[in-house]
Order: sequence, then structure tokens, then C-alpha cells
Amino acid sequence: MPTEIRHDWTRDEIRNIYHLPFPELIFQAQLVHRDFHRPEEVQLCRLLSIKTGGCPEDCAYCSQSAHYDTGVPREALLNPRDVLDAATRAKAEGATRFCMGAAWRQVSDGKDFERVLEMVRGVAALDMEVCCTLGMLTESQARRLKDAGLTAYNHNLDTSPEFYGQIVTTRVYQDRLQTIAHVRKAGITVCCGGILGMGESDEDRIGLLEQLSRLDPHPESVPINMLVPNEGTPLGEAEELDPLVMVRAIATARILMPASRVRLAAGRRGLSQEAVALCFLAGANSIFTGEKLLTTPNPGAEADHRMLEMLGMKAMQSA
Ligand code: SF4
Repeated sequence: MPTEIRHDWTRDEIRNIYHLPFPELIFQAQLVHRDFHRPEEVQLCRLLSIKTGGCPEDCAYCSQSAHYDTGVPREALLNPRDVLDAATRAKAEGATRFCMGAAWRQVSDGKDFERVLEMVRGVAALDMEVCCTLGMLTESQARRLKDAGLTAYNHNLDTSPEFYGQIVTTRVYQDRLQTIAHVRKAGITVCCGGILGMGESDEDRIGLLEQLSRLDPHPESVPINMLVPNEGTPLGEAEELDPLVMVRAIATARILMPASRVRLAAGRRGLSQEAVALCFLAGANSIFTGEKLLTTPNPGAEADHRMLEMLGMKAMQSA
């Protein structure tokens, strides 16, 4: 029987999956994964910060928030030429998706947005998937990004609706869902996931997965991040997450959203190679490569190619 794609998962069902005995959970995730994806393939993505620091939002995990003294300098929007050079290098290193992140609360129409559109057009012309994460977005801005060639828009839900207020106070969960709806309406694919290790409970992780899996259609891309504690932020001293929690959440995401790409995103430097291999077994099929993920350190492209070779896996050739 082929795996059915569902959007009506209940919290009880998700809780039961999440708490399955570990071998059973991984087995179920593998069955689903193999129905929809090639198990040896991993998509390589590159994420570049195109406008760093000084963000008016107060996300408790973020080194770029102007609310915290983290030592991250405030920088102006990059020049489109430099961004295209970075995308070209990323493509040469095997990336098929290029993501651009700006530390904005929302997109403002004007000169900066025009420059972002120019970047999107340029990266699309390289025949890569193009993704942006620019904060909140109106319907008309989403349409303009789509017309420029944007493949995907990233807007994370971060955590469960119940825990959200402890992480961000400058916007509400509904704002996030609204932007995601605008992205969908414009015909852009959705990249939406969360961050684990912020002091949330299992129930919050289950709540996040519930929100994601009830979106119809599912986000085509589901990034699962592990908190990288940033000095100066309220979560700078957060307790380290057990990597097996990451694996459990990834496996559950795989079962709930069979066709989505589940991305092992921030925090990979804090995972052993064995833990990363378990994440792949659980159904993760994308990683971010390159020394930096916005402002946080990340394994370099060379190290990732060595890891994939050792596991007998390979980078997805085309998006
Ligand atoms: S996560 Fe994004 S929105 Fe939140 S403070 Fe950082 S840059 Fe701003």
C-alpha cells in the first residue's frame, strides 16, 4: 500500500508516533522515506546572510536581534553582485539550492526590496532553487518574488503555539501563519520548520509537528534546527539537547510529511557524525553546507563531501 499523505493528524496520533520505541520509529520512518525519496540522496543547500544584525524582533535564540548584546555587527544589505558570486561558488561546491536571509521584521517596498528581487533573478538564472527568508511578507510582495523566480520562502513556526510566547514577544503565531498563507497563494513553495533545544518539552515539539503536518499542502521543505546558544541572548546558556531528541523529531516529521524534504539545519556542528547518520536514517534528506549558516558556524563543504562519501551517500544532482 502506498503511503497516504494526510493533513488531519491529531495530537494523540503524533504523540504516539513520537514516543514509539526507537527502532520501531526509525523503521516506520524508513518505510515512508523510501516510498518518496532515494535513501542515498541528500540535497545540499547554502544559506547566506544578505543583511545581518539589527533586527527589531526579539527572538530569544537569535544573535541578530537588536534587543541583545551579542557582538554581531549590524550590516547593510549586500551587493547583488557579491551574492551572485557566492551562489556561483555554492553551485560549484554541489549546492542545488541557495537561500538568502535578511534580518528584517518584514519586507518594506523600496530600494532594498528591488535589490533582493535582482538577487532572486540572478540566482534563478544559475538554475538553482532560490529561497529567501526576509520576515513577514504581504501578498503583493510574495507575487513579486514569485515573478522574479523565487522557488521557496522560509518562514519558521519555531515551536508550538503554547511555547511560542516564551521565545518571541514582538509578533504572534498567527502572523507567521499569515505570511505562510501569502507565500502559498503566490504559488511559491513553503519552507517551514522549527528549532529544538530552546527549553521546550516533548509536548511542544509534538505541538510544532502538529502545526506543520496540518498545513495543506505540507511545507515542501521542513528545516529542523538544533539551537546553537548565542552568548548575549536569553538562550545563551540553554542546556544542550540530547541528539536523540533531534532524531526522534526528524523521524516523526518524516512519517507525518512523507513527501517533504526534511532539512537538518542549524546545530549540525554540535552533532557527532554518528548522530548525523541517524538523522539521515530517520528521514532527513537535506543539509546546509558552507562554513556559516547566517551567523552560526557550520561544517564546511569539504567536510560534508567526506562525510557523505564515508556513508556511501551522495549529493542530489539537480533540484
Ligand atoms: S530570527 Fe529573524 S526575525 Fe528573529 S530576531 Fe533573528 S533575524 Fe530577526
